[in-house]
Amino acid sequence: MNLRLDDSSITVAIVGCGGFIGSHLLDAVLERTRWRVFGVDLDFYRLQHRLNHERCEFLCADLADPAVVERIAKFPLVVNLAAICTPSRYMGEACEVIRSNYDHPAALAEACAKSGSWLVHFSTSEIYGKTTPDSGELLEDETPAVFGPVSASRWSYATAKLLAERFIAGLPGLRWTVVRPFNFVGPYMDFMPGVDGEGIPRVLANFSTALLRGEPLKLVNGGKAKRCFTSVHDAVDFLFALFDAGSDPERCDGVLSQAFNVGNAENEVSVAELAARMRSIFAKVRGVDVSTLPEPQVVSGEEYYGAGYDDSMRRLPSVEKAQRLLGFKAAIPLDTALEESLLWFVKHYSV
Ligand code: UDP
Repeated sequence: MNLRLDDSSITVAIVGCGGFIGSHLLDAVLERTRWRVFGVDLDFYRLQHRLNHERCEFLCADLADPAVVERIAKFPLVVNLAAICTPSRYMGEACEVIRSNYDHPAALAEACAKSGSWLVHFSTSEIYGKTTPDSGELLEDETPAVFGPVSASRWSYATAKLLAERFIAGLPGLRWTVVRPFNFVGPYMDFMPGVDGEGIPRVLANFSTALLRGEPLKLVNGGKAKRCFTSVHDAVDFLFALFDAGSDPERCDGVLSQAFNVGNAENEVSVAELAARMRSIFAKVRGVDVSTLPEPQVVSGEEYYGAGYDDSMRRLPSVEKAQRLLGFKAAIPLDTALEESLLWFVKHYSV
């Protein structure tokens, strides 16, 4: 692979550049390298501070357009973050979810296979499926996946993502790496319902919204599901470890044709514990006693998200492969990541 982190001639294409992870990756690429960025997205409101940057070119476009796909695939390194990835949309908009998470990435992968680009494709930890409270560490190359029935349309997303992984892995000649994120959190995540988005965002934005509005945090089915919340800064560090290895002739074989979990196994909490921690952080920030905040409320998944909702009960990544092949281990503790995210949310939406 002809990539060098200090090579000023490289342009990295970031698809989904205006989103939560894309905006952090863009900043890091511009700060840490002399690379140029070709950023593609449907909107760039998170990137106002970068729009006139001399090393950036932005294209407001959709991967549904074959001409856009061809243009992206001309760059030597393509990072594809574009996806519909809001659980509340997996039920009512299954076909759109599948187009966004399978059809469009498959077309991009085919174009990259033809052009010889390195495709770093963002998949999801949800491809491990309907895990149970007893599920252990999820291993990239060993753990089997079980999904709910077709009537549980929550799995539209995971099955489309898994099919995209299989398509990518099966494409002759494609140089690829798949990334499986475990609940990334940080500034710019999701939206505040009724302000800059509609529907139900992921749990952190939901809890932050409820805290700001003085409403109870909603615990779906009692908040028993467990997640490993991982700072987006760790995610960016992982990507640089990957780029580094991919540009090293001695190590690049180890990172091509591989899927990597990216998560912090030490940050595991149940959603009910997450609610308790976020209430404490918010009370500390506001200088009030936590008992003055509304108590969390239990709601059923169907009531909250609608028919077809289902859940993974535990998502614990094995982090051994990233450590072994890339020397990477997520380092940011849960409370630091939560506090940064919540403080950003409060400041951003209080204005
Ligand atoms: N959840 C919750 N209250 C909310 C939003 C989500 O209890 O307001 C739960 C949800 O049912 C799941 C977990 O929190 O068990 C994480 O949900 P999220 O939507 O963030 O994404 P997921 O990890 O399921 O993809």
